Amino acid sequence: MADLVSVRGLVKHYDSRRGLLGRVTGNPGTLVQAVNGVDLSIAEGSTTGLIGESGCGKSTLGRAILRLHEPTAGEVRFGDTDVMALDPGGMKAMRRRMQIIFQDPYASLNPRRTVGEIVSNPLRLHGLVKGRELQDRTVEILERVGLNAGHLNRYPHQFSGGQRQRIGIARALIMKPEFVVCDEPVSALDVSIQAQIIELLEELKREFGLTYLFISHDISVIGYVSDRIAVMYLGRIVEEGPTEAVLTAPAHPYTKALLASVPHIEHAGSRRASVKLKGDLPSPTNPPAGCSFHTRCPVAMAECARAFPGTTDLGRGHSAACHLLPGAA
Ligand code: SF4
Repeated sequence: MADLVSVRGLVKHYDSRRGLLGRVTGNPGTLVQAVNGVDLSIAEGSTTGLIGESGCGKSTLGRAILRLHEPTAGEVRFGDTDVMALDPGGMKAMRRRMQIIFQDPYASLNPRRTVGEIVSNPLRLHGLVKGRELQDRTVEILERVGLNAGHLNRYPHQFSGGQRQRIGIARALIMKPEFVVCDEPVSALDVSIQAQIIELLEELKREFGLTYLFISHDISVIGYVSDRIAVMYLGRIVEEGPTEAVLTAPAHPYTKALLASVPHIEHAGSRRASVKLKGDLPSPTNPPAGCSFHTRCPVAMAECARAFPGTTDLGRGHSAACHLLPGAA
């Protein structure tokens, strides 16, 4: 399958005093190195799971791919289109093809707008349909996500967390996009509701032929939904490959540590070593030199603090960046 989205050398740094949206917060101005040179290819019709601890830069990466946060450097291609070269008009048209589902469905829905207004708003903004057709399209997508026409005139606070996430999914899909960034779409939900939303996203992917970048800090969720997994640590992808390979034969000590924290996804034949993750994620304003994982890595060597390891091709589309791997630079 051809790549739908291709990212090369993507960088997103921002001044902590201004935040991602450019607002001055009054904090001392330091450079936050949220995304630090990411390469990632996402095949059409596939789900790539992006896993990492909170603060590792995965949500910023998802937004930078969509240019919701303007990248500092790098290349984003969508099919044959150079996304970074698009002017505002071209970017507006591209937004119909690339959408996002947010983590917190309540925070992302305007409390003063009805569900009908929220869900139909993208179509209205793009001037695609009006009047009766607008309402029909809105009801159609609401019904597809498990809601109905009786919900059109209600407000977000009148819904449960799971229903609010269904509203967020309807809003993202009403434009019939091809690519959707699912940014921790079940993290804010009760465990009993998470499975329903994951199943809904899987059904919609099959029905509409969607391509997902599925972001989560939960390796169990990522393992379930993904065709491929990319493991992110402090702004970099440290391991990437087919789901089965990453889960059963993880190559990077950080991936091994993530997997060691969830014993129930042990697979037969796993070559996983027991690696415990200790300490907190270092600040992205001052990432450690060399391999940024060396301050927490149980098998770090002197070399690890000096040089960032190159990426080793492990075969069959599986790669990782660690000095311990054969042929690592
Ligand atoms: Fe650990 Fe060194 Fe490999 Fe980094 S390069 S993961 S510090 S062994």
